[in-house]
Parts: sequence; C-alpha cells; structure tokens
Amino acid sequence: MSLSPTAPTAPTAPGATAVTAPAVTAPVRALALSLPAGRLPAYLYDLGALREHADAVRRALPPRVELYYAAKANPEPEILTALSPYVDGFEVSSGGELAHVAAAVPGRPLAFGGPGKTPAETAAALAAGVARFHVESAHELRVLAALAAERPAPGPPVEVLPRFNLPLSAGALHTSALSMGGRPTPFGLDPSEAGEVMRHLTGGSCPGLRVRGIHAHLASGLGAADQVAVAESVVDWAVRLFERHGAPLHEVNIGGGMAVDYADPAARFDWAGYGAGLARLVAAHPDLRLRVEPGRALTAYCGWYATEVLDVKRSHGEDFAVVRGGTHHLRTPAAKGHDQPCAVLPVAHWPHRWPRPAARGDSVTVAGQLCTPKDVLARGVPAPGLRAGDRVVFALAGAYAWNISHHGFLMHPRPGFHFLGG
Ligand SMILES: *Cc1c(COP(=O)(O)O)cnc(C)c1O
Repeated sequence: MSLSPTAPTAPTAPGATAVTAPAVTAPVRALALSLPAGRLPAYLYDLGALREHADAVRRALPPRVELYYAAKANPEPEILTALSPYVDGFEVSSGGELAHVAAAVPGRPLAFGGPGKTPAETAAALAAGVARFHVESAHELRVLAALAAERPAPGPPVEVLPRFNLPLSAGALHTSALSMGGRPTPFGLDPSEAGEVMRHLTGGSCPGLRVRGIHAHLASGLGAADQVAVAESVVDWAVRLFERHGAPLHEVNIGGGMAVDYADPAARFDWAGYGAGLARLVAAHPDLRLRVEPGRALTAYCGWYATEVLDVKRSHGEDFAVVRGGTHHLRTPAAKGHDQPCAVLPVAHWPHRWPRPAARGDSVTVAGQLCTPKDVLARGVPAPGLRAGDRVVFALAGAYAWNISHHGFLMHPRPGFHFLGG
C-alpha cells in the first residue's frame, strides 16, 4: 500500500450528498465556507429561521394553549431572546437555569420543574416569584409548603401543578423514543399518591399553595396524533381527579417531547394537526387552559455545527473523515445513537505544500478528534471524492447539542459561536 494520498477520481459535486442531507440555509452555508479553518469548528445559529419556526408553532396552537420553552434544550441567551416574543414563558429545571433565564429574558413568566429541587433552589424560586411550581414528589410538596408559609412578605398563593407519572397508552408507548411515563422512573408522583397529595393541597394544610392542575411530561419523540392521544388521556385523568376532590381544574401541562426526526432533517412535527387536536380538547373543557413545553422541536432546526475535514483515511475497507471537533462539542449522535445529518461543502482550494488526502469510496464515516471509538458523528455519509479541507455542516444541532456535551474531554479548543440574523 502506498503512503501517498489517493487523488480524487470523481469531482466533488455539491449534489453528491444523500437524500437525507439537510438543505443548508444560505447564511449558514456562506459563513461555514468563509470562516478560516482556525475558527472552526463553530456553532452557527440561524436566528431568523428560529423566529420563523417559533412564529409558525405559535400560530398553529389555539389561544387557550400556552407555549412554554423548556430551556434545558438550549439555554443560549440569544436563543432565549429570539424565542421570547413567541412563547408565553420558560420552563426551567434547576436553580442554575432559573437564575440564567431570569437574567436573559427578564420579567418573563417562569415555571420551575425538574426532580431533586434543593430547599435552597425552591427558596430562590419563591423569592423570584416564579409563576408555577411543578412538584415532583410528596417530599418536594412538604418543603415547598413549609418555605411558602415562611415567606417574609407572603403574596398571593404559590401556584402548584403536581407532576404525575401516568401510564401511557400502548399505542403511544410503541412510537416513543424516550418514555418517562407509566413505568418506574424518578420523575413525578406515582398516581397512587394522587389522593393524598390532593387532600393536602385542598384541605387547608398548605395555606401558601394553590393547586391549579397537574403536569405530565410522559414521553419524548411522539408524533402529533400520539401527542394528542396522550393529552386527551392526561386531561381526562386530571378532570376525574379534581372532580373527586371538588377542586376547580384550571390548567393541565402536557409537557414537551414533540418528535424531531434526525433521519429526515426536512421533516417537521405536524404542529397544525397537533393544534387542531388540542383545539378539540380545549373546546370540550371551556374552563381549562392547556400548556405545552417543548424544547427540542423548537430549537433543533436553527442550530448547525460547522467544521473542516482534517484527514481522510481508509481503515479495513472503510473510509474515515476525521474532522475538527467531535462529540465533545456535539454529543447528540453519541447520546441518541443516531447519525447526525450533515452536508458536505466542497472546498476547491488547498493551501498546503503537502498532498491532500481524499476518500476512495462513495461514503465515509465522519469521526471527531477524540481517542475513543465512540467519537463518531455520522456513518455512511455519501461523499465520493471527499477531501481534507472540505467543510462539513451538521444539521439539527440546535437542541441537546453543545450544552449536553463533555467539553473538557481531551482539552481541545472550544468551538466558536455565531448568531446569524440576530
Ligand atoms: C425535557 C423536558 C421537556 C422538553 O422536552 P423536549 O423533548 O425537548 O420537548 C419538557 N418538560 C419537561 C418536564 C422536561 O423534562
């Protein structure tokens, strides 16, 4: 075997990528090609595209459905600011998120959820005047009741939604990528505790609290029809629970988890179908407000991770492209076990005095710079003639991407961050 790199046999046609390759938006393509190699990898956020998408989501939902953004999907301040006009508020799941979101979008309503709230976090949330507490356990309820009663200047009662781990219908369970409901999990209250919790909340033993309804975030990755079916069964359960306790049901939070299809980057959750289903549901319950709190399906599409091919080589019959960066910046494919959709942007110019490595086959495995076989961003990427120096842009990198990644591993430099259309 010769050690000299193989010259590309096929021209690197821009259309050479697979049907699942994303359509790179014009501002993202332009910046991904114009940034000098030393400023890659970089996260490119298309805020114009984000605003358009959020506007369409808001318009698809009926008026009595409130839209909250689950900040944990991507809490970059620019993202929160761009979303702010289109959402009714933000769901935060830690004291850190609470402080961060309150500073980034001051004055916007916050709902405080998440398991394992510390007493200090609960006290901070009370002091910040958060609009809703999603209570995850009987213990959390007791801590919240005690701290609410001790507030130095007690205002109106604290609005509480106990979160319940309700059984999912069999149909919904089949399609759900990540189910949190109806099986043993650390999330929410067991439905068997509902009676006792409601007696506490309605019987005068928690004077600082008012139960508005319930919360249920049961699954991630559901399509619109399944989401509507889950919402109907959650509302039905809540109506019967509140009737049994003679309490008015004002609100049901049906969570997030709207599907993002990483295998088909052009696909979108059917927000119109979902909105129509929720409109039927609220029409049947004239005094009820619904709330949804998506994360992934709001911000996944606006984020791109752009990088440069450093090396191309063949190993036991398979072509590998090694790019700057990797899963320590974009952990999503490793966390979810998928191929991150990507587009190759060929670069004609090769500024170096050494030869330019190129792929021999029709497809490559795109790996990062980490010394672990898990550092694979995408397999089977159609890229005949791919060469070092070409650029690769990964789509659907706007949610659970940078902020869930293990940045410190191997001490490579951090990516750049660019907010386009800000
Ligand atoms: C993570 C989470 C969400 C958002 O889920 P997505 O799948 O990103 O839509 C909403 N509510 C709760 C309670 C969550 O934990």
